[in-house]
Amino acid sequence: MKTNEIRRKFIHFFETKKHTYVPSASTIPIADQTILFTIAGMTQFKACLTGEEVRSYKRATNSQKCIRVGDLDDVGKDGRHCTMFEMLGSWSFGDYYKKEAIKWAYEFTRDELKLDLSRFWATVHHTDEEALEIWKSIGVPEERIVRLGDKDNFWAMGPTGPCGPCSELYLDQGEKVGQCYEKGLICKGPGCDCDRYLEYWNLVFMQYNRQEDGTLLDLPMKSVDTGMGLERVAALSQGKTALFEIDLFEKIKEEILLTAKINAKINDLSEQQKESCNVVADHIRLLTFTIADGANFSNEGRGYVLRRVLRRAVRHAHRLSPNWPKDQSFLEKIVKTVVTEMGEFYPEIVKNKTRIEEAIRNEELRFSSTLESGLAKFNHFVEEAKSKNLKTISGENIFILHDSFGFPSDLTRVLCEEIGFKADLENFDKHMLEQKERSRAEAKFYKFDQDDSPWFELNKLNQNDDKNFAGYNLKVTTK
Ligand code: ATP
Ligand code: MG
Ligand code: MG
Ligand code: MG
Repeated sequence: MKTNEIRRKFIHFFETKKHTYVPSASTIPIADQTILFTIAGMTQFKACLTGEEVRSYKRATNSQKCIRVGDLDDVGKDGRHCTMFEMLGSWSFGDYYKKEAIKWAYEFTRDELKLDLSRFWATVHHTDEEALEIWKSIGVPEERIVRLGDKDNFWAMGPTGPCGPCSELYLDQGEKVGQCYEKGLICKGPGCDCDRYLEYWNLVFMQYNRQEDGTLLDLPMKSVDTGMGLERVAALSQGKTALFEIDLFEKIKEEILLTAKINAKINDLSEQQKESCNVVADHIRLLTFTIADGANFSNEGRGYVLRRVLRRAVRHAHRLSPNWPKDQSFLEKIVKTVVTEMGEFYPEIVKNKTRIEEAIRNEELRFSSTLESGLAKFNHFVEEAKSKNLKTISGENIFILHDSFGFPSDLTRVLCEEIGFKADLENFDKHMLEQKERSRAEAKFYKFDQDDSPWFELNKLNQNDDKNFAGYNLKVTTK
């Protein structure tokens, strides 16, 4: 089944169970200061789950665009993590509870997704006899229900407040799938950190209120919060073992290869080309969606995440196309395909297409001019280290790459990993701190430290008027 069809079916399925469809919230949480990006469907429903907010409906469903920067390093390395993905969700705010949630998740798996149930597994929290009994009562054999601990199967919004056990749905993709098999290890089963048993749906049962002293009191209102990864179920439904192989990425990857003037079919690419193609496909989606929602490139916080992601993508694009002209943007050319593939459901990316392309173009060109010389410098550092029989890039050198060539430290770390080197990030952090101290001292000199606004203006100026960018100027933007 095509990805767009699964999204439609999911929403329709829960609408027939009297859930109200609520559009996806922005990728940038407006009211929530605790997170930089929306990481799950429940973000916009937090207050409904605690009971602080009461809406006209008690059941909701949606498809939420999510950003998980924490999964950045897994992209292109394993088959199951994207940095931007869609989470299909269903909620009960003090209405139905475990029985319906489990029954409907199984029903959707069986009747709509039509997944092979002989490969189905469920997990429950080791204390949750109730969930275990419900799974058994709907026909899942006990040996296919795994009891896991807090790490996998207990969910909490924070150190105190609403929390509860969860139950997850898995499909075994076969013994030859996953990193355990590749490394000759025995896979632990559901909950193992490899791709074989693919977790695709998480059902959270919110039933406790955790107190300051850690005790769990029963909540007056019990709720359900479920999240299913759209790309993951699409992969399972389409018989693919990696998210980047699903239909949704096909056209995006074709456009990447076309732009890079690579004539091979995706399956004939080298492993390195495949990885680069996947990373670009992933990162361009993140950039398209976050910029559409109003995020901008900058040297701090959310904007710096965007910058890091773009720079990684540019480096992979140039790896695919080594002679790519420095005065043109590679990534800009892929935006239109993301828009055609996903714009029907997310009109904000259609509406903001030109602005997204422009922002990406400007940011890419700033970096392209220093990428080549930065890579040459990196190689020089590598040779220097080798001549001393070392396999580490020092904190000072990571700092030079960062300060003069615009290489985010995680990009240097990835470059190091690729050649079996280590990056001394601890010492890099010390250099960063020292520079911050220096710029703070200069800030005092200019009396800008009492007020953010001049910095903000300077920062804006710095970003807009920056055709001759040579590394970014922390002096202006870090306070
Ligand atoms: P994993 O253990 O595989 O990292 P998770 O336990 O962190 O997943 P949840 O927080 O339970 O994931 O999110 C609910 C669902 O969202 C998951 O069951 C999965 O289908 C999907 N999902 C989570 N992270 C990603 C990701 N980075 N890319 C694609 N889908 C994801
Ligand atoms: Mg995870
Ligand atoms: Mg998990
Ligand atoms: Mg999970």
